[in-house]
Amino acid sequence: MRLILLGPPGAGKGTQAQRLVAKYGIPQLSTGDMLRAAVANGTEVGKRAKAVMDAGELVSDEIVNAIVAERIDQADCDRGFILDGYPRTLAQADAVHDMLAERGILLDSVIELVVDDKVLVGRIVNRAEEAKAAGQPVRKDDNPEVFEERLREYYKKTAPLIGYYYANDQLRQVDGMAPIDDVTAQIEALLSR
Ligand code: AMP
Repeated sequence: MRLILLGPPGAGKGTQAQRLVAKYGIPQLSTGDMLRAAVANGTEVGKRAKAVMDAGELVSDEIVNAIVAERIDQADCDRGFILDGYPRTLAQADAVHDMLAERGILLDSVIELVVDDKVLVGRIVNRAEEAKAAGQPVRKDDNPEVFEERLREYYKKTAPLIGYYYANDQLRQVDGMAPIDDVTAQIEALLSR
């Protein structure tokens, strides 16, 4: 199964992706996690991405397309994967289309978590507080100032993908405002159709 999870920052893509990993046994490919790992490891990609990520802006298509193309060729992706936070621009959507076509792979679904903007900043602040309370590192971009930029980037560059996948008849929407378990149930219902 090959899935794309779409939605603004704080919509719950990561949480739902982890549940799908547990249920379907396919990996979660989070470009945000991959980029944070690159930053932590001080790689060339990490050095190029760090300031952009800290500012809440999008890393270049060239960088993220390359890391995803490399990642989907790894053996654990043979049975499928969940793309979490990728694609995020129309150019990335074209790139993922080409990547899959070159490998003879079909995309099963694009699932949008539909969430009211007003709750998002609160979720991000919560996530930061929970990480802190658990003694985990707090993401530098999980604060209200940077969050505003992340949301602007989402509307400018990522929201157009909703129309793109709708026009391709690949878009499926779930109510991301529902309790976490209900969102999972909605996604599973869509996938079992
Ligand atoms: P996330 O963990 O998905 O919220 O991503 C954190 C940050 O990583 C974003 O604000 C971007 O700076 C960068 N990033 C993650 N995925 C992408 C992507 N597909 N395209 C461009 N930048 C990305």
